[in-house]
Amino acid sequence: MGMFDTIKFDRDYACVKCKSIITSTQTKAFDKTLDEYSVKDCIDHAEEIRIIKEELFCEKCHEFQPNSVYLVVNRGILLEIADSFQKAKELLDELSKEKVILWYHDLYRKYIRQKNETNKYQNFLYELQDWWTEKKYKQKNKDKFFFSFFSHHFKGAMTPIESVERFLTYTNMHNTLHQLWDEGHEELLIYHPEKIDAGEEEWFADVYQDDINERCHLNWTWSVASKKFHVSHDDPDEEPLDWSIIVDEPYSEEVICKAVLKWLKERRFQFNVKMIPVEKSRRTGMLKMLEERLSNLKEEECIPYEDVKEKLKILCVKTKAELVDKLKNKTKVFYYKGFHGSLVPCVETGMLVGRIEGINEIILYEGKTVSECENKFREAVSKLIPKPVISEP
Ligand SMILES: [Zn+2]
Repeated sequence: MGMFDTIKFDRDYACVKCKSIITSTQTKAFDKTLDEYSVKDCIDHAEEIRIIKEELFCEKCHEFQPNSVYLVVNRGILLEIADSFQKAKELLDELSKEKVILWYHDLYRKYIRQKNETNKYQNFLYELQDWWTEKKYKQKNKDKFFFSFFSHHFKGAMTPIESVERFLTYTNMHNTLHQLWDEGHEELLIYHPEKIDAGEEEWFADVYQDDINERCHLNWTWSVASKKFHVSHDDPDEEPLDWSIIVDEPYSEEVICKAVLKWLKERRFQFNVKMIPVEKSRRTGMLKMLEERLSNLKEEECIPYEDVKEKLKILCVKTKAELVDKLKNKTKVFYYKGFHGSLVPCVETGMLVGRIEGINEIILYEGKTVSECENKFREAVSKLIPKPVISEP
């Protein structure tokens, strides 16, 4: 086993034996630096003009294929992957200036995108440094003079790390949306697990989009709340997170779709949005996490719901807290104003219990749904601290 490079094919080859798709081949013809190359890449030195024959091998059934592929390299650029030597030779001879110019334009666009991306990260780091070392968060009245594209990642964040997390989530979400669009997705399927009555005025929903959740490792994708809920639950001075959407309408599925659509349009995405029932989704993010924890519990220690309900009634707060500590995966589920909250399912029926983490006082919340628990968690945190306390960096 030595070093090699991988050549990714721009078309699929099917294995003659097991019909699996062969997507790449390995070669030792170049610098053997474990790099991955596609057509149009600079694979070799600028003086190299050659054709390299490589075997096709199926990783699945470990079968060498009767046909080979021919890598066509002209002036160090991987021009094409041909199926026969004759075809490879023709391609080598017909490299036109026109083709190279078009490729150069593609490459230049890629370069500009990457340059902008690098600038964005750099600007964010400078502003982050400015915001925290200059203690801009303390200068309440000067706040309005601080203009920044990134201010929504700073205001309301309790630590620089939280600002970084917000920025990375925001950036990942945007990149993923671009990716989905480029891959040909034109419609985003969304859902939310909360049961809310149509026409409800004070409401809050965690909206899930499976592709975004999976690719960005999110607990959920957007939070949509009515203005009424927002006014009574959120700090008016706090800048809402990029993925929080406030709407001034009573609950309906259409209102949520419209809100997400508007959010996308404001960021120049042209997706359609469609609401699906939870049962038709892949159940990603927090839902997946909770379901996994529930199934683990089922295997280990399954206690009938009624028994636990009775027990919980009798148990004192301290014992309940011990139960939470015993069951919980150390992942903190909720975050609000500098506090983390845990959440664990108690029994197979899905009853949820959590506590505010990181403080000595035992403050618990219980509920049937994630959002019910989150609301209670937020209320508890609000009661705990009337004003946010910012620790010195
Ligand atoms: Zn095969």
